[in-house]
Amino acid sequence: MLQDQEVHAAELERTFIAVKPDGVQRGLISEIISRFERKGYKLVGIKVVVPSKEFAGKHYHALKDKPFFNGLSEFLSSGPVVAMVWEGEGVITYGRKLIGATDPQKSEPGTIRGDLAVVVGRNIIHGSDGPETAKDEINLWFKPEELVSFTSNAEKWIYGVN
Ligand code: UDP
Repeated sequence: MLQDQEVHAAELERTFIAVKPDGVQRGLISEIISRFERKGYKLVGIKVVVPSKEFAGKHYHALKDKPFFNGLSEFLSSGPVVAMVWEGEGVITYGRKLIGATDPQKSEPGTIRGDLAVVVGRNIIHGSDGPETAKDEINLWFKPEELVSFTSNAEKWIYGVN
């Protein structure tokens, strides 16, 4: 039984989620946390930081050739960001579903961006788009000792593992 639990825990994946400065300024931190938490995902790291523009540029390095890259890096570094790591089965892909499409005009109602944002340049939240990005972004924003590993009492009810 214990062995099953260990195997299950080892399979759990992690993703990097950030409430961007617009989400923080608009008082949406708890709303965003709540959507991941109520789903059944587990918060294993969180901090409030004001990233430098250089750091923001590192975070968005894959977009460095886009015309909006400079403005985007400037915006991410313009104020506090809530950086988080969430853990759970399918959290990378399903986290993106909870977040909704990049452009809030195209995000479905019921998603975070669909319900809470209007324009692409102020879409309030970031989420890693794949396993490699998740690993890189977690390593960029967090030191290993800033993340916790624990079994929550709710897990047997979320995953049905005894
Ligand atoms: N962005 C923008 N203009 C665009 C496209 C994207 O300002 O035309 C911003 C937007 O804030 C988006 C971020 O750049 O969240 C990163 O873009 P990406 O395509 O990686 O979208 P995401 O993964 O955030 O949905």
